[in-house]
Amino acid sequence: MQVRFWGTRGSLPTSTGGASIREKIRQALRQADGRRWETDEQLEAFIDDALAFPVRNGYGGDTSCVQIASRREPTLLDMGSGLRRFGQQVMETPDQDRPTTFHFFMSHLHWDHIMGFPFFPPAYLPGNTIHIYGGHPENVLREAFLRQQSTPCFPVHWDQLGASIRFTRLETDRWHRINGFAVKLLRQAHHGGSFGYRIEKDGKALVYSTDSEHKQQDDTETEATVSFYREADLVIFDAMYSLADMITVKEDWGHSSNIVGADLCLRANVKHYCMFHHEPAYDDATLYEILQETRRYAEIVGEGKSLEISTAYDDMVLRL
Ligand SMILES: [Zn+2]
Ligand SMILES: [Zn+2]
Repeated sequence: MQVRFWGTRGSLPTSTGGASIREKIRQALRQADGRRWETDEQLEAFIDDALAFPVRNGYGGDTSCVQIASRREPTLLDMGSGLRRFGQQVMETPDQDRPTTFHFFMSHLHWDHIMGFPFFPPAYLPGNTIHIYGGHPENVLREAFLRQQSTPCFPVHWDQLGASIRFTRLETDRWHRINGFAVKLLRQAHHGGSFGYRIEKDGKALVYSTDSEHKQQDDTETEATVSFYREADLVIFDAMYSLADMITVKEDWGHSSNIVGADLCLRANVKHYCMFHHEPAYDDATLYEILQETRRYAEIVGEGKSLEISTAYDDMVLRL
């Protein structure tokens, strides 16, 4: 399994503003300190080796959309604004006219998780089939997409889509076999309800668990989450807030912190904990600092357990 992140931001798409770009340039020039490079390769090596991630790159601003790339039919988690770029890539492939079946697993129907769909060109092409799965009832799933594409919110009405679109509710208490994957759902605490997914194939397990507020004082919920995450190769986790924000102003906002994610992943013996659904107000430097803080924390409380920790960024690719 290969996982590609098309969108990693929470709640609202963001962009890297001019002031932030200027700060990156300032830091890069300071680091270069008058150095000269003979070749482009040497320059590239300097960028990769000498500049920290938030200077040479950034976390991106598209909202939740993650692809599970395999030789099977295209399979994605959520349809945030990152879906636009996935759709673009599909349209640029040489056989883009060939009828294709797409599979989408929806965590829930908040706007940041469906807003990419009107900008997904394959939905407009007759011959394509789009399966939209979720833990919510089919009429609730359908209604969210219909409303999004109706007057006065959007100029192209749902009825004008050419693809055949099917909604399917997946129950939480059993495994489902879809497109070669074994899939299980977990109901999570979030306004309106959200669902986490455990997806397994060829002995590898991926958990996608976004838009979920974990209260560690709730033992039943914690046990259910730990057993859902157990021994997973990768957990993509809603670490929207820093712990400080979480326990002061943002309690009951429906999201979790970097520290809660580390605790859950350590307890569940997860291999790789990936922080996701970033707060729009956090800039690249803040997200990078939160990553360092989380790694330090896991080292202190992890009692020698090896937990890989990363912060998802747009276009990041992970191999399981
Ligand atoms: Zn969200
Ligand atoms: Zn949400």
